[in-house]
Amino acid sequence: MNKHRITLFVFVVAAMACVFFRHYWWLVFVVFLYFFLLFFAVLIPQFNFFVDSLHRIPASGNSVVLTFDDGPMFGHTEKVLAVLAEKKAKACFFLIGKNMEQHPELVKQIIAEGHQVGHHSYSHVNTFPMWSTQKVKEDIAKAASILENITGQQNLRFRIPFGLSNPNIAKAILQCNFQSIGWSLRTYDTMSKSKEQLVHTILSRVKAGDIILLHDWGTYTVDALPEIIDGVRRKGLEISGL
Ligand SMILES: [Zn+2]
Repeated sequence: MNKHRITLFVFVVAAMACVFFRHYWWLVFVVFLYFFLLFFAVLIPQFNFFVDSLHRIPASGNSVVLTFDDGPMFGHTEKVLAVLAEKKAKACFFLIGKNMEQHPELVKQIIAEGHQVGHHSYSHVNTFPMWSTQKVKEDIAKAASILENITGQQNLRFRIPFGLSNPNIAKAILQCNFQSIGWSLRTYDTMSKSKEQLVHTILSRVKAGDIILLHDWGTYTVDALPEIIDGVRRKGLEISGL
């Protein structure tokens, strides 16, 4: 039973007790508290409220993982790969199904260069968190099947688009038997104002066990990547796979 079901059960019992004892103001408070909690549970995936995701590397020693979302993107992914090759660093790429269809050669290149991959939905549209379980399931299974067709291997690693989970998405992940991978360090690289800002955001916060969220297409991501890798290593941390 996940945290959401346990919480729902506790709140339903509390609400029934409020009705039974006719404490209606307490009932309003209980309902408000439930939706307040739900709001933050959707926004903060690290709560693992709806779905159990891996947000840190277990027993990591001094390792951190670099992850890149939303590829493969022609004109971006190759540059990320070139920096990783130059720095002899490995990463994990969470790939979007429709992008994989357009650039299967980039998926093959990622794997050939020794990186890990996972899938990140087929469509990655803004309305994804509002979809039914069935629609989410069809979409995420389609991405997994495209990846499997390209690589010849089944891959259960999945990252939720936008990191926004809810009961429908949780159910779809469970039914597909995917392993949900989150992050512990959100870099906001798609919103960074400069390379320096992005490097500072990461190096001032990174610690052992972190799963670092980056994007192939972040405006300063490729430029900042050499300094990020060097800086992480200067801190005595090792860049590893999941
Ligand atoms: Zn994404």
